[in-house]
Amino acid sequence: MQINITKPYLPDKNKYYKYIDRIWQNNHLTNFGPMSLELENRLCEYLDVPHILLVSNGTLALQIAYKILRLDIGDTIISTPFSFVATSNTIIWENLKVRFCDISKDSFCIDTNKLKNLLNTKDKTTKAILPVHVFGNACDVEELDKIAKENSLYLIYDAAHAFGVKYKDKSIFKYGDIATISFHSTKIFHTIEGGAIIFRDKNLFDEARSMINFGLKNNMPEILGINTKNSEFHAAMGLCILDDINLILEDRNRIWEYYYKNLKDYFEFQKLNSSNNYHYFPILFKNEQFLITKLRILNENNIFPRRYFYPSLDTLRYNTSEICPISRDIASRVLCLPLYVGLSQKEQDKIIKILIKG
Ligand SMILES: *Cc1c(COP(=O)(O)O)cnc(C)c1O
Repeated sequence: MQINITKPYLPDKNKYYKYIDRIWQNNHLTNFGPMSLELENRLCEYLDVPHILLVSNGTLALQIAYKILRLDIGDTIISTPFSFVATSNTIIWENLKVRFCDISKDSFCIDTNKLKNLLNTKDKTTKAILPVHVFGNACDVEELDKIAKENSLYLIYDAAHAFGVKYKDKSIFKYGDIATISFHSTKIFHTIEGGAIIFRDKNLFDEARSMINFGLKNNMPEILGINTKNSEFHAAMGLCILDDINLILEDRNRIWEYYYKNLKDYFEFQKLNSSNNYHYFPILFKNEQFLITKLRILNENNIFPRRYFYPSLDTLRYNTSEICPISRDIASRVLCLPLYVGLSQKEQDKIIKILIKG
């Protein structure tokens, strides 16, 4: 049996059918239907935020964020080079410019001292900062808040990995002007495909709700809009999975702790600033060569961890001048181990044995 980096969580099929039955009763398939509204309400409660906007995926969530803040051609966003490629791709896709700020070797998130240096040379086009709570680890949110205010910049968090994370007992989604999340099936909580946007400002939330539905207000076109809604079937999956969220987190916790107990003397790890949602289990090798050797052996044994996140995004052809040595170094020697509900201790033992041998 192949062991992959992740395996999507599927709820009990009969339970999903029960939710699906309600779609037939409601005869409402999309366009903010009752199941989508129920999911929004339950997510608000779970994530402890006043409102949340469901969208088609975490990538479009970022694009809508730039649009609603009226970021326009040629504007610059400062972001992290250590993330999934969607983070920086969305910036370029929207005809904006990206500048990369290097990360902290401890948190793997944007280094706020380097950010301050970078801002010394900012020009008029710089409009926003886009940090990532990478692997669910909170950025230095207090410092980032201060920096954004002092420089009159928008603060948008790509919180794709941060479902349920708390920073100092406060929901991570309460930070920033806007936070986005992905509900893709590879993420902790998913709606098959999906994502959401959380706004600090209720007016922006209302406007974005219209923007993702063709810009309609009371069925009349008022602003420029697009369609990035999701269906009631997606919402039904979300509701099923939210019912199981404690079981999901417990099982992930068990797997995470078992890896940590057995690997802590052999590898370096990301230093956590916040509560752990057990989304990923990244380990740092001494050097890239060692990583490549171990990865090959794991693959020969039908085990497929992933080099999240490699390569460092500042090495891509984005026409940006910043070089980020810490991010390049971390990216070259970080590996995320298989972590999903149902991964057995026997399977973990197999992985651990290969990793610590020799
Ligand atoms: C998964 C992910 C995204 C994209 O989300 P999708 O729902 O797959 O579009 C964006 N940013 C980060 C950091 C991610 O891991």
